Amino acid sequence: MSDPVGQWIQRAYKASAASNCVRRSVGAVLVRNGVEVIAGSNGVNRRFRSCLEAGCPRCTAGGVVGLGYEFCIWVHAEQDAITRAARDGTAIGGSTAFITLRPCLTCLTMMISAGIRCVYYAEDWSLAPELEAVYQSVAGQLEGFERVPLAQEAVSEEESTGC
Ligand SMILES: [Zn+2]
Ligand SMILES: [Zn+2]
Repeated sequence: MSDPVGQWIQRAYKASAASNCVRRSVGAVLVRNGVEVIAGSNGVNRRFRSCLEAGCPRCTAGGVVGLGYEFCIWVHAEQDAITRAARDGTAIGGSTAFITLRPCLTCLTMMISAGIRCVYYAEDWSLAPELEAVYQSVAGQLEGFERVPLAQEAVSEEESTGC
């Protein structure tokens, strides 16, 4: 049996190839009714090669995953997809997001506000316990929020959220 969730995660990895971030390439794809609506990747303004070249305060200081993004100039893959959609007039309400990395709290709240119903992601990370509790309660507003490790065959067999 084919594995649509895994295939969309693979598509998100393909989208991540457009990233110009030297630290980490992230890709996101928004899908509705089995059709790709829009894709995005993380990166900085094309004027710069990277956060480091641009002198981004967070990234030059080392940067911890999940924190300090108000001091970083990059656009996250999810934000890239949402803002591209806004620019082009593409409706994304009701779509499902497939992302190579667990979204940060800002992207999570943005996706919920944009009407995205479900989020699947491949690579995991977590916040400190108190913040993680907030993160999980926000994620609980989605109809589905699930980690899908890449290259595992049995994902679709036990798919429960129906998104
Ligand atoms: Zn940065
Ligand atoms: Zn983010």
